[in-house]
Amino acid sequence: MTARWYVLCVRVPDALDDEIAAVLGSGSLGVEVAAFRPGMTELRVYLGPEQDAGVWRERAVQVLSAHGLPVAALAPAIDPVADGRWVERWQASLSPIPLGRHFVVLATGAASDHGGREPIRLIPGMAFGTGEHETTRLCATAVEQRVTSGSHWLDLGTGTGLLAIVAARCGASRVLAVDTDPEAVAVASEVLAANVAGDAVEVRVGSIDERRGETFDGVVANIQSSFFIANAGGIAAALVYGGVLIASGFLVDDVDEIAAALSAASFRVEARASEGPWACLQLLRGER
Ligand code: SAH
Repeated sequence: MTARWYVLCVRVPDALDDEIAAVLGSGSLGVEVAAFRPGMTELRVYLGPEQDAGVWRERAVQVLSAHGLPVAALAPAIDPVADGRWVERWQASLSPIPLGRHFVVLATGAASDHGGREPIRLIPGMAFGTGEHETTRLCATAVEQRVTSGSHWLDLGTGTGLLAIVAARCGASRVLAVDTDPEAVAVASEVLAANVAGDAVEVRVGSIDERRGETFDGVVANIQSSFFIANAGGIAAALVYGGVLIASGFLVDDVDEIAAALSAASFRVEARASEGPWACLQLLRGER
């Protein structure tokens, strides 16, 4: 089996697990936090095929050193994750996850009585976006607040397609979902077909340029902070005047830098939310 994903494992004292997980997890596909032995936690940072494992190992060494931790004893190690193992692990861990005010994410085939919440069914696959991650939940809540009936939305970095589904279910009449990872697009296409009737959602491989000149009432993007800094102008161009940007995927610590980059591209911050170390901004596009 070809390994396309990697996992970086580091063992850290319990007292530092949140802080180190936030720093090391930023820009990764997700961090799993597991008990290692009393007082020590193992952090498993999942990396995609496009990420340079050597750079991440070096980053782990630096983070541990910065906390005065004995790097050699904490054994930062990178291992390939075989696709099948990942899928199995994910399937096993996928218990119902409430999303926003109205939805619950369920594995395909799970019973669907969840206190009146509308089920979104996920087919286990390799893309990020099970609803477990704080940033996905923050974005889903904001999408619920912002989508108006008949509006057009762009989901940048759709992963499993979860946020595109929430937008469509909340009344968007057109959602374009894009992701640079063809594997994610394949998963999202399947998940969308299982969850959204009709052709309201279209999914394509690509990024912001894949909109091909189309403009939207709203954009949701749950991507690493560097994306917003590099693409602030492009995101503004994708929105109508007064359009909404829901931005997440970065840490509370990075909000000021991202808000400054987006302000320079005409955005005004309307609302801020956070869960643990993770932040989500709602911004409105102004005149350029
Ligand atoms: N929207 C989902 C997934 C977020 S993970 C959720 O909220 O749960 C981020 C996704 O963005 C990944 O699937 C990754 O492949 C994709 N991505 C990363 N950089 C991107 C870029 N520059 N343009 C488009 N998609 C990108």
